[in-house]
Amino acid sequence: MDWGDAHLPVCSGSTPLAGPSLLIHGGAWAIPDDEIPAHLDGLNRALARGRQLLERGESALRVVVGVVTVLESHPAFDAGVGAVLDRDGRPQLDAGVMDGSSLAWGAVAGVRTVANPVQLASHLVHSSGQARFMVGEGAERFAAEAGMPHVEPERLIVARERERFEALRASNSFHTSDAFSGASGGRSASGASGVDSAPRGTVGCVALDARGQLAAATSTGGAPYTRPGRVGDSPIVGSGFWADTSAALSATGWGEAISTVQLCARTADAIASGAAPAEASGARLTQMREQIRWPGASPATGGLISLSASGVGGWAFTTPRMARGGWTPEGGAWACVERE
Ligand code: ASP
Repeated sequence: MDWGDAHLPVCSGSTPLAGPSLLIHGGAWAIPDDEIPAHLDGLNRALARGRQLLERGESALRVVVGVVTVLESHPAFDAGVGAVLDRDGRPQLDAGVMDGSSLAWGAVAGVRTVANPVQLASHLVHSSGQARFMVGEGAERFAAEAGMPHVEPERLIVARERERFEALRASNSFHTSDAFSGASGGRSASGASGVDSAPRGTVGCVALDARGQLAAATSTGGAPYTRPGRVGDSPIVGSGFWADTSAALSATGWGEAISTVQLCARTADAIASGAAPAEASGARLTQMREQIRWPGASPATGGLISLSASGVGGWAFTTPRMARGGWTPEGGAWACVERE
């Protein structure tokens, strides 16, 4: 498939008004054809877990953590097992979680020895607020105190990412965090231009529970072959994730751009002002691409999922494909990666 340049029109869609419901994503980029089955498998497993939790009457917060745990544990995505590797050949993981009813949130960045960073972030949601955002070694020590198992970073690495790393190192690619552009070190949907050919399989979930409360969670391995220590948008509250009493959102895409425009919180404000989730998401993504004009940088593309307090879900993306899915009691589960 030939995607032409990166200025694809925004693609968006919505789910109708529903009760307890959820939306998920597994990244927005030029997902290669031969990786689609694995993406759909991961999405469907996560939706099954989300459905189970919602039908059991669990809180939105528990649902998003449970669902993102499944996505992190699936090797198709750039999160948890299967994450991309940095220039040292190691995964560095970021995650954020937020409860819309209390605005309590937690986030971690740059952790390497935790298989499910979303669970570590959720421990911080429940803290009394001394620490909400922890990084690196301190976050890993906190994980041990919270009773989370220590994993060797090697156990998070899959062959696909080892090969990508070797290819990027061999090509001496300076695939820095300020541009997902250039070599992808691997396969992508043919014809995709630089920014969208780099793997961006961040995962996320937004949920509305039976009590009408919202929550959001996002988890990522960040950008391939990036500098150790680089942090994108995913663990930044209001940028890569957000939930309040009006809306819950999770973002994916070029982290430096997304955090600059505080994509999730600003889109939530638009939804609170009456905009429909799909339209608000599409408009903010389009605006981000128009506004970010850093010299030499690729177009600022990405994807968003959003859910309003009334149960209307929406998604939008400006990339060739976006792995996404949802579940509502009436409509059941669906998952797809293509533009519509
Ligand atoms: N937004 C993530 C980051 O910049 C990457 C992605 O969405 O795949 O770290």
